[in-house]
Amino acid sequence: MTKSELIYEKKTVYEKAGKEVTQAAFAYAEGYKHYLDAGKTEREALKESIAMAEACGYQEYRLGDPIQAGDRLYYNNRGRNLFVFSVGSEPIQNGIRITVAHIDAPRIDLKQCPLYEDGGMAFFKTHYYGGIRKYQWVATPLSLHGVVATKDGRLLDITIGEDEADPLFYINDLLPHLGQEQSKKPLSEGITGEQLNVLVGSMPDEEEKSVTLHILQLLNEKYGITEDDFLSSELCVVPAAKARDVGLDRSMIGAYGHDDRVCAYPILTALLDDEDTTHTKLCILADKEETGSDGPGGMQSDLILDIINEIATALGGNPAVVRANSKCLSADVSAAYDPNFPEVFEKRNTPLLSCGAVFTKFTGSRGKSGTNDATAEYIGWLRGVLSHDDVVWQAGELGKVDCGGGGTVAKYVSMHNIDTIDLGVPVISMHAPWEVIAKVDLYETYRAARAFYKY
Ligand code: MN
Ligand code: MN
Repeated sequence: MTKSELIYEKKTVYEKAGKEVTQAAFAYAEGYKHYLDAGKTEREALKESIAMAEACGYQEYRLGDPIQAGDRLYYNNRGRNLFVFSVGSEPIQNGIRITVAHIDAPRIDLKQCPLYEDGGMAFFKTHYYGGIRKYQWVATPLSLHGVVATKDGRLLDITIGEDEADPLFYINDLLPHLGQEQSKKPLSEGITGEQLNVLVGSMPDEEEKSVTLHILQLLNEKYGITEDDFLSSELCVVPAAKARDVGLDRSMIGAYGHDDRVCAYPILTALLDDEDTTHTKLCILADKEETGSDGPGGMQSDLILDIINEIATALGGNPAVVRANSKCLSADVSAAYDPNFPEVFEKRNTPLLSCGAVFTKFTGSRGKSGTNDATAEYIGWLRGVLSHDDVVWQAGELGKVDCGGGGTVAKYVSMHNIDTIDLGVPVISMHAPWEVIAKVDLYETYRAARAFYKY
C-alpha cells in the first residue's frame, strides 16, 4: 500500500475535491444567502422552506390525511416547526432516512409587557433566547421580527429594519470614558440580562408629552394594535445585518443565524433536489433547540413519533420496525478551530474550516455526559455512503475535553431506537450576532445529505 493509502490525513475541500466542486459551492451559496435573509426567525425560515417545498411539488399534509407511495408532503406545526417528507416505493419496513436541523437561533425576545420610558427615551424590556454572549449585542444595529395575535383572531406579521428605508433598533452600551468599572468585570457580567433594553424612541407625543404614548400611537397607526396586544405576541430583536461574502477570496459567508440554518438549508435542498423514489425520506426543521428542545415544536415532542406512525401504518408497516430500521442525520453546527483561541481546541479532533462536513460521533461535556454516541457500525455504513459520491468530510468534536461542550437534538431522535449521528458545518464565532462559515463546508454538507438520502 502507498503511504497516502495508509495514513488518514485531513485535507481541505479545495485540495480533495478541486475546482469544479469549489465553483459549484460558490453558486450554491447564493441561494443560501437568500434563505438566511428571508428567514431570521424560525417562523420566517419555516415560511421560506414551505415556499421552496411547494415550488418542488410538495403539498400540505394534516394529521390523519391518507398517505401513499409517491406522495411529497409537508406538515406545518404551529408555524414554527416543519416536517417535509417524500414517500418511497420500497417497503416501509426498510425504515425512513431522517434528517433534522433547527431553525431557531439565539436572539433577544421582548417580554410580554415590554414598553417603558426613562431619561426621555422609550425602551422594550427583553429576555434573551438561547446562549448569547450579552456584550456582543449592544451598540449594534438591530431589527424587530415577529407576530402579534389579536384577540379577534388576526395574526399580524411584523418586520421592521430589513428594508433599507426602515428604522433600526439599538441596545445602549457605556462610553469608554465612563466604562472603567465595567471594563474590570468578567465578560459575562459586563452587560447583564436586564440591561438588554432595546431603544425604540425619543420623541414625545404632543398632548401628553409621553415618548411611550407616541410609540403606541405609531404602532396603532401602522398595525392597529394597542399595548395589551403585546401580551399575545412573539416579538424578537435580531441583528439587522444581511448575509454577505467574507474575505477577498469570497470563500466565506458572514451572517446572523448560521446556527443552524447552515444545516437546515442543505438538508432541505438535498431532499427537494432528490430524484430517488425508492427510500422514504423525512426532513425535520425543529424549533427550540437553543433552549433545550422543549415545547410542541422542539425535538423532545412526540410529534416525530406521530408522523412516523402515520407514515408506517398508512403503508401497512409496524412503526417499531420502521423506527428500528430508520437512520438519522442530526444536522447541527460544530465549532471550527480558531487560531485566535487555540487554548480551547484539541487540534487533531477539532473540525477545521474548509475541510468539509463534520461528523460528530459523540457530544456532551464532562465525560460525554448527555451524548447520543453513534455506533461504530452506523459510522462505518455512512463512510461507505459518502465515499460513493466522494463527499469531503471530517470527524470532529466541539473543543477540548472538560473545556465546555454542548448538545444537539441527536439524543432526542436516537431515544426512539433510531441510529443517529451529528453532521454539520464548522462555524467561527458560533452564537455571535454575525457568525462565519466556509462555502465549501456548506456545500459538502449538502452533498453528504444527498448521498444519505440516495444510497
Ligand atoms: Mn445548533
Ligand atoms: Mn446553537
